[in-house]
Amino acid sequence: MDLIKSLCTGCGYCVLICPYDALKTDGWAEVIPQNCTDCNLCVYACPSDCFVPDAPLKPYRPRIADYYDVSIIGSGIGGLMAGAALAQAGYSVAVFEKLGFPGGRYTEIDYKGAAVTTGAWTNLGPNSHIGRFLADLQIKLDYASLKAVGLTEQYSVRFPDGRRYDSLFDLVSGAGRKAWLKAILNGKRQTETGDNALDQISAADYVAAFSDDPNLLAAVDAIAATASGLSSRAMPASEYIQITLDGRTAGQEFAMPAGGVRSIVKALVTSLRQAGGALFVRSPIAAIGVEAGRATGVQLADGRRVRSRFVLHNGGPRAFVNLVGPANLPANYVARLTNLKGVECAALFCATREPLFTEAPITMTPQCRRVVGIFSPTRLDPSLAKNDLHLFDAFFPTYSDDRSAELALALADLRDLFPHFDDVLEWSVPMFFTGSWPGAETGQTFGQTGSNRLDPVTPIENCFLVGMDVKGSGVAGDLIPLGVRQVLSCIIDGILP
Ligand SMILES: Cc1cc2nc3c(=O)[nH]c(=O)nc-3n(C[C@H](O)[C@H](O)[C@H](O)COP(=O)(O)OP(=O)(O)OC[C@H]3O[C@@H](n4cnc5c(N)ncnc54)[C@H](O)[C@@H]3O)c2cc1C
Ligand code: SF4
Ligand code: SF4
Repeated sequence: MDLIKSLCTGCGYCVLICPYDALKTDGWAEVIPQNCTDCNLCVYACPSDCFVPDAPLKPYRPRIADYYDVSIIGSGIGGLMAGAALAQAGYSVAVFEKLGFPGGRYTEIDYKGAAVTTGAWTNLGPNSHIGRFLADLQIKLDYASLKAVGLTEQYSVRFPDGRRYDSLFDLVSGAGRKAWLKAILNGKRQTETGDNALDQISAADYVAAFSDDPNLLAAVDAIAATASGLSSRAMPASEYIQITLDGRTAGQEFAMPAGGVRSIVKALVTSLRQAGGALFVRSPIAAIGVEAGRATGVQLADGRRVRSRFVLHNGGPRAFVNLVGPANLPANYVARLTNLKGVECAALFCATREPLFTEAPITMTPQCRRVVGIFSPTRLDPSLAKNDLHLFDAFFPTYSDDRSAELALALADLRDLFPHFDDVLEWSVPMFFTGSWPGAETGQTFGQTGSNRLDPVTPIENCFLVGMDVKGSGVAGDLIPLGVRQVLSCIIDGILP
C-alpha cells in the first residue's frame, strides 16, 4: 500500500481503522510495510484520498436506484439528521457516503479495544438541540449523565503552573461572576432585539468591558477554545454568549450518549432505514447535476447517475463549489464559499492506565502552550474502553503547518499539567484537522455566525447545504439541527425564505 504523504492532513482515521497495526502517525501518516496485509480498509477511511493500493480495488457497486426524491451527499450528523427526517416524512431518500463508515466527524472507531472519536466529544445531552431533534424523530437514547456517575460539575480547571479549581465558578471571584452574568444577560437581550453588533466584537473585548478580572478572562478563553478551538479574541461575542447559554441549558443534565456519539449515528441510520431510506457507504459523489439553475440529481464517482428532486450537500462548502461547478454559481457566492475559513485544530487521543483527572468529565486548561481542554469519555461511560483503561481527548488549536512541532507543544502541556503523564500513558493517537480538511469548525469564526451565517439555501434551486458550515450560533455540532430544520421546512412545507 502506497501513501501520498503530501495529501495527508493528519486526521489519523487510517491508523484507527487498520486492524494490523500497519500505520503510524506523528501528524503525517506512514505505512509500516512489514505489517500491511493489503486489506485496503485504509482506502475507505481516508477523507483525503491518500492511499494508492498495490492492486486495483475490487469494484464496489451497491444496488442503487436511478431515482430518489432526495439525494444526500455525506453521512455526517447533518446529512443523517436530514435523511432520517425526510424518510420519516415519506420521501424516498438515498444518503451517499464516500468513506467506509457513516458519521463523518461525529462517530467513534474501535481502536485497541477503545472507542476513539473521529472528532466530536459529545452533544450536551437530552436537552441539547441534537437531543431534541432526535426526540422529534421518536429516537430514544440512553445517556451517560453527570448525575449517574455522582458528579456535579461539567468542567474543572487546571493551569500549567499547578493551580487547580474543581469548577469554573471556583476560578472566578464573586465580583467577576456578577460581571460575567451581567455580560451574558445583556448580550442575550441585545441579540434578541435583532441588534447584530455582537457579531462584530470579539468575546474577549466584550467581556473585558464588564470586568478586568484575569481569571474571568481566562475562563472565557477556556470556554471559547474548548467549544470551538478559537481563542476568545477570534470568537464573536454573539457566538460566545450562545455557547454559554447552551451550556447552562444542559446544566445538570449534561451527558454524553451511552456508547459515545456513534450511538446517535447508529440510531439515525436505523431510523433512516426503517423509514425506507438507503445509506450507501464507499460511494463518493463526483458531481451534482444542474439544469437551468435547478438540481437534477447526483453522479457517483463510478459514473452512475441518480436523478433526484432535491439534493442536499453535507460535504463542506468548498467541495460544494466543485461538485456543482463554479460556472453554475454566482461569482460572489463562489468567492464567499471558497474563502470560508475553518479553524485549524487537533486532538491527542490518549489511553491511560490511571485517570489523569476525575473531578469532572472536562478539564479546561487555560494558559497552556496549545492544549485548551481535555475530555474524558470514560469518566461518564467506562465501557468505552476495555482492559480498565481510561480515555482522554486533549483538544488544541494549531498555529503552524509543522504538525510534529505542534504535537510536541501539546505533549509538553500534558506533562506540565499531569507530571505522571508518561508513566500512565498506554497509547495515544494524534488527530489533526488542518490544511485541506473541510473546515474543522467552519461555522464559528467572524463573518460566519449570527447575521453573517451562511444560508443552507443555495442559489441552485432545490439544492441545500446541511452540516457544520450552516449551523446556528452555539456549541459546535449541536447547532447543526437548526440549519437542518430550516432545510426541512423548505422541502416539506415548501417554505422558501
Ligand atoms: C476535534 C474536534 C472536536 C469536536 N468536538 C465536538 C463536540 O464535542 N461536540 C460537538 O457538538 N461538535 C464537536 N465538533 C464538531 C463536530 O464534529 C462537527 O460539527 C460535526 O461532526 C460536523 O458534521 P457535518 O454534518 O457537518 O458533517 P461531517 O462530519 O463533516 O461529515 C461529512 C461527510 O460527508 C462525506 N463526504 C464529503 N464529500 C463527499 C462526497 N463527495 N461524496 C460522498 N460523501 C462525501 C464525508 O466523508 C463525511 O462523512 C468537533 C470537531 C472536531 C474536529
Ligand atoms: S491495507 Fe490494510 S493492513 Fe495495510 S495499511 Fe491499509 S488498513 Fe492497514
Ligand atoms: S489524511 Fe488521515 S486517513 Fe488519510 S492518510 Fe492522512 S491521517 Fe490517514
